[in-house]
Amino acid sequence: MSPWQTRQLDSALAAWRAGRLGHAQLLCGPEALGKRDVAEALAARLLCEADPSLSTCGSCRSCQLRLAGTHPDFRFITLEENEKPPHKLRTEIVIEQIRMLGQVMQMTSQRGGAQVVVIDPADLLNNAAANALLKTLEEPANNRFLLLVSAAPQRLSATIRSRCQRMEFALPEREEALTWLLAKGHESKQATHALEAAQGHPGLADRWLAEGRLVLRDEVLRDLAALSRGTAAPLDVAQAWVADSALTALRLRFAADAALGVARSVAGAALPSGLTPPRDVDKLGLWFEQMNRLRAQLAAPLKHELALAGLLGEWRSMQATTETRR
Ligand SMILES: [Zn+2]
Repeated sequence: MSPWQTRQLDSALAAWRAGRLGHAQLLCGPEALGKRDVAEALAARLLCEADPSLSTCGSCRSCQLRLAGTHPDFRFITLEENEKPPHKLRTEIVIEQIRMLGQVMQMTSQRGGAQVVVIDPADLLNNAAANALLKTLEEPANNRFLLLVSAAPQRLSATIRSRCQRMEFALPEREEALTWLLAKGHESKQATHALEAAQGHPGLADRWLAEGRLVLRDEVLRDLAALSRGTAAPLDVAQAWVADSALTALRLRFAADAALGVARSVAGAALPSGLTPPRDVDKLGLWFEQMNRLRAQLAAPLKHELALAGLLGEWRSMQATTETRR
């Protein structure tokens, strides 16, 4: 486990040992920081039959059942496949899943220990499911724990949030993030570059390094630079970015982050490579938001090229005059 995960787990376990761990926990914070792993490790210790002062033993009957995926007092709820063919993954957690959880939580513990339910991603509970979950949250019982995991906790209803203790995951210090990346076997220069691209997010940096995504980022920066110079047409770039649909969202993210990078250069940060200083920082901020909004809408079956071409067309006007304009 990474140091930031260990800190969260240790502090939850300290609260548990002191009898202060609330029955509902909300593990929240940026994606890819290992929240689910922490929820599972916490669940493991809550279920384990070893002395509470010790770590999860891995060998007691509870641990064996959990490792085999058959612990009667543990449930992991996530997105499931639709029952009807072609069995596509649902986009939300539905009420039947929460009803089943209600049944489990109303029975007494079958092993006589804790009962634990993990829900991830909790923000994808649909309305009916969230309402059903509230009933469970309103009837706390001794030694019953609900661990909600979410990278977008603002999407959860205020009522649900107010019933939970928060375990807030934050980006670690740069030094710690870098040390962790190096320990994962990444080369120092690459790791530094990736961490910069991911704005200090070690989980994303690791993923991008593993998947070779920094090349894609360089391409996006090159395209943006070409748009600034007027040597690329917005519609052509938009079509190219949208054509490769599996990578469109990541391209838009890199583009939005480039806008942020350009805006920050006003305060002395280094400009992303090949880009020119901003002319209008407020406009860049708006552009950043619009680009992210478009990214959020990508899942909808719409034609995105024109909206994207419109945004890319604005890019040039937001940067300082280039040679071609002088
Ligand atoms: Zn055990």
